[in-house]
Amino acid sequence: MRLPFRRPRRPLAFAITATAALVFLLFVRCASAPHRGPPTAIEACGQPFDVGTRVVRWHEPGGYDAYRRAKFFTDEAEPDGRLRYAPLRGGLPEAIAAQAAARGLSLGDLRQVVHQFVLHFDVCGTARRCFHVLHDVRNLSVHFLLDVDGTVYQTLDLREKAHHATYASDFSVGVEIAHPGTFPQPLSAAMRAWYERDEQGWFQKYPPGRVEPGVRTPGFVPRPDRPELQRGAVQGRTWYQFDFTPQQYRALAHLAAGLSRALPRIRLEVPRDAAGNVVQRALPEAEIRRFEGIVGHFHVQQNKNDPGPALQWDRLLQQARALRGGAP
Ligand SMILES: [Zn+2]
Repeated sequence: MRLPFRRPRRPLAFAITATAALVFLLFVRCASAPHRGPPTAIEACGQPFDVGTRVVRWHEPGGYDAYRRAKFFTDEAEPDGRLRYAPLRGGLPEAIAAQAAARGLSLGDLRQVVHQFVLHFDVCGTARRCFHVLHDVRNLSVHFLLDVDGTVYQTLDLREKAHHATYASDFSVGVEIAHPGTFPQPLSAAMRAWYERDEQGWFQKYPPGRVEPGVRTPGFVPRPDRPELQRGAVQGRTWYQFDFTPQQYRALAHLAAGLSRALPRIRLEVPRDAAGNVVQRALPEAEIRRFEGIVGHFHVQQNKNDPGPALQWDRLLQQARALRGGAP
């Protein structure tokens, strides 16, 4: 009598047990997954911070992984594969350095140590080419790449020191903005290799190279936010440059606002002179070490002019402040 009674219950009991086990496993997996958050999150010390714009992180399909110790775009053997970043930032306060050496930087540590966001242009024209040059050719790194269509790529957790701005790498987060760069002469042959004009105006093209453009938005045509060629001085020298794309301004404002929330010492401000104008040349090292906010690479190094005179600093800061709310 017992068998006929129990038999029909077995599949049900099994189903309940199996479902419970699956739910438990899924829960445990989600709870312990190192990479959480929406597709619009950046990551700092393993914690996601939603920045409200698409971010492809290094561990996602189509992401660029700066943790990889071999070359990224080829299967070329690299037996002594080196780190492209430093797991420990230099110049840490003593109390933090001891803890960080033992267990890495905590978010609390990172918030004390990181106080700058450094903007670069990549002179590669697309994020994909930039990562090829940085990782596979030059053994360098940067936390973020910002493509022409506004896609942000995060290549490393912010707890890592990326090699992008000499001594300022110790206390900064860096972004390479996809852009052909500045030119000493207007519309020279070198510049025309990158730009063409149609009935809608100037647009950026992708010169042939070893790596495909790889822009995520199909058929995307990068057009400068302001259609006319810009001219301006950096480090006391005149440069010609087309503006960044409107998609890049939007994404950069989201990224800056999100960084300022995640790491509050990064204020939404830029170095200014006594008259309130954005400084267009390198600052003394002591000033850079003190400054809390957003800087251009040219503020850090005299031999650099990126992100160039075309960047609309006040537009960027206004948008970022509106997104984040509150004071600079
Ligand atoms: Zn740079």
